[in-house]
Amino acid sequence: LSSFAATGEPSAVRVGDRSVGGGSFTWIAGPCAVESADQLMTVARDVRARGAHLLRGGAFKPRTSPYAFQGLGTDGLALLRDAAAATGLGVVTEVVDAAHVEAVAEVADVLQIGTRNAQNFPLLREVALTGRPVLLKRGFGCTVKEWLHSAEYLLAAGNGNVLLCERGVRTFEDASRFTLDITAVPLLKRLSHLPVIVDPSHACGHADLVAPLAAAAAVAGADGVMVDVDEEGRTALCDGKQAITPDAFGALVARTARILHSA
Ligand code: PEP
Repeated sequence: LSSFAATGEPSAVRVGDRSVGGGSFTWIAGPCAVESADQLMTVARDVRARGAHLLRGGAFKPRTSPYAFQGLGTDGLALLRDAAAATGLGVVTEVVDAAHVEAVAEVADVLQIGTRNAQNFPLLREVALTGRPVLLKRGFGCTVKEWLHSAEYLLAAGNGNVLLCERGVRTFEDASRFTLDITAVPLLKRLSHLPVIVDPSHACGHADLVAPLAAAAAVAGADGVMVDVDEEGRTALCDGKQAITPDAFGALVARTARILHSA
């Protein structure tokens, strides 16, 4: 891989007043999908109070089934804007269609490219041209090299503000939703200077597996973790089984801080 993403001094990406990478550990937390003003505001306040640096939440949801909840779209973006204003958290939200890039970029501090669009090169280019930080998820069928080539599309379009996000790959194992490739973390540290985020929620699909995988990511050298958090006992319209409660999130932040401190 001859590239901009290749080895060099580890880079940090500026998101508002936060530096992601470069020695800090960043928590991105929030619901899988934005579902209502109440839900989002409650979760945003809860995760903020427990140590989140950035708020995640999908307004445009790329669902496997066309009959599943597809997200609130532009209404969801407006709710993200309100939650960001109320909490001071920067927003990470996905863009699934080049036609939405402008609207998403008005609200998002970080534009997320999901696993299903990791090799949608025209979309990568459009997103890169906003100049905004991009969180690039790994395609669940992509090798590390292919993933870095996708990152290269962003960098080659002049946008160096790229966060790589490992979110599990498809393997023969079906006891978890995908298989978190923890090896990718130290591997990327060798192959690239870009910050590495891990999303254990979408990798495993089960709330009770999220904390150990997040801890493993921190120990493996990740620059941060992105995790689905939703109100306790809520039946989420999207990926509800993998959401942890705000209190579980708080415990995870504290435990990871202890692990990183003692490492
Ligand atoms: C998400 O983070 O909301 C998401 C849909 O993740 P992925 O693209 O990794 O499935």
